[in-house]
Amino acid sequence: MGENSGLSHDEQYSTALTVEDFRANIAEVDDRIAAAASRAGRDRAEIELLPVSKTVPQERIRLAVAAGCHKLGENKVQEAHRKSEEMADLDIDWSVIGHLQSNKAKDVARFASEFQALDRIKIARALDRRLQGEGRSLDVYVQVNTSAEDSKFGMPPEELLGFLRDIREFDTLKVQGLMTLAIFSSDIERVRPCFRMLAELRERARQTDPDLIGAGRLSMGMSGDFEVAIEEGSDCVRVGQAIFGKRSVPDSHYWPENG
Ligand SMILES: *Cc1c(COP(=O)(O)O)cnc(C)c1O
Repeated sequence: MGENSGLSHDEQYSTALTVEDFRANIAEVDDRIAAAASRAGRDRAEIELLPVSKTVPQERIRLAVAAGCHKLGENKVQEAHRKSEEMADLDIDWSVIGHLQSNKAKDVARFASEFQALDRIKIARALDRRLQGEGRSLDVYVQVNTSAEDSKFGMPPEELLGFLRDIREFDTLKVQGLMTLAIFSSDIERVRPCFRMLAELRERARQTDPDLIGAGRLSMGMSGDFEVAIEEGSDCVRVGQAIFGKRSVPDSHYWPENG
């Protein structure tokens, strides 16, 4: 474990207000990704940085796009859908990374390029039906709850293999891998096992049947813990505040069950 792998939940993230601010914040995150990759003996180029723009208004998102962001993560479907329409003139791929209700599946099927929080067969079925109608496919990650004591969204680890088998019937869903949210703790020794569990689940799926898990990517790590996630094998880090600045909306708004 390197000296920079401590968590930084309490860090004051500065709000990016200009294209230059965005360039600087992205460069800093990029350096930290590269350092974590190098500590883990991994290739930086394998790791995707997904900027998360939830709560950020379109004026500032436009600056981020000017600074080079062309794929953005949003937690809530309605917010993402609205932004995709407001910024239809820009070249942006939208990744929905939060819990989905089945009555919103039709929206996701219309505008999203990726959905990272698939955790129920009902949602898979609803998405497939809508995607068939749109004549398109969707990249998906299956979300797993790796922190049982926190009741975050995601399926129980023991149900994962069965679920991966069940969703094979949906041709429109292109499984990219697994996604998780680690426990919210500034104690690295509680966070790391969540990431490690996701990596183990991927191995188990691969050994059972490599076709179950597509590219087998791991989406894990956010502003406060992405370096630890990279050390444990993350292929996609979802970073909001370290790029856009501190959010005023509390995270409980996005994770209502998270105490
Ligand atoms: C908001 C959010 C993130 C990013 O969190 P930051 O602390 O802003 O980096 C990552 N994943 C999900 C699912 C989120 O909702």
